[in-house]
Amino acid sequence: MEQDIRTTLLHEFSKLSLDYKNIFDVKDKPGTGFGLCATSYIPKGTLIFEESPFLTLPMKPNQITLTPRQYQTAYLGLNPRNRQVFWTFKGRDDVDDEEEKDKIMNIIDINGISLGVNETSYAIALFKVLGRVNHSCKPNAGWYWYDDKQLLRFYAYMDIPPNTEITASYLASDTLLLQAVSRKQKILEDYGFSCLCDLCTDSVQRTRISDSNLLELSSYIGEWVNLGADDIEEKSVLDLRKLYRSLEILEIEQKIDLMGFVYSLCLEYHMIHGNYDEAKRLAGLSLDHFTKVIGEEKSKEFGLDVWVIDPTSHPYWKIDLV
Ligand SMILES: [Zn+2]
Repeated sequence: MEQDIRTTLLHEFSKLSLDYKNIFDVKDKPGTGFGLCATSYIPKGTLIFEESPFLTLPMKPNQITLTPRQYQTAYLGLNPRNRQVFWTFKGRDDVDDEEEKDKIMNIIDINGISLGVNETSYAIALFKVLGRVNHSCKPNAGWYWYDDKQLLRFYAYMDIPPNTEITASYLASDTLLLQAVSRKQKILEDYGFSCLCDLCTDSVQRTRISDSNLLELSSYIGEWVNLGADDIEEKSVLDLRKLYRSLEILEIEQKIDLMGFVYSLCLEYHMIHGNYDEAKRLAGLSLDHFTKVIGEEKSKEFGLDVWVIDPTSHPYWKIDLV
């Protein structure tokens, strides 16, 4: 039964891949399980696929952990076919999950993706294809959740050569910035596996360079992470050198997810100070970045396409600092 559903799923995945010019393939390797692989050259910014979740667990505002009842209800709400799909997911090996209810929790905890629905509420969801993408601390792809469309889009963060595994990061962005030893430890604790990604298995010398970059980066990001929309005064005195250096490191270390945040800070800085040329340039770089990692449609919603042409229309343009 389990093998039948795996084979059917592989057929389903290859049909989906055809809709996206057949650029990826889902492989089912004995021992390691499913994984995505590029079948042709995938340029940065390519929409690799899109999909809706097959299982969703809405969380109440401020709810931190799911209740056993929520897990059960979500599973029981699945149709027979999706229950079969559910059991093709693997939970972590190092937990005691003798009973079915524990197995359900284990699978959802490990494979569930957190979707921000709005500022106060979110949901945990399971995706048939995204759930097959393996983790890397130096991911070459990532996703964006379109809440209005109830759709997840998966984009290439880098140019991906053929026969390369397509990976995403399972880690929150702050964990992804940890140095190798603590990062590996955190992955082992939270997910129960030893990370064997390119970054975690790199040579001692290259790990040292990467660790030093990540340490420098964390110190900068730590200063900015709590800045909100109203902290205009604080944003006006940011150290531009640190901002630009962060963008450089983020690019080198392939932490593409975080680049948008730093681009926004750079852009806001130049808007506040009314630096016309730099504001235009940063708006262009941000537009290019966001178009590639979350799509053109969403980038336009932010207003970036307008600020590229006219930075003076930005709400922070030469704003009065009280
Ligand atoms: Zn890793």
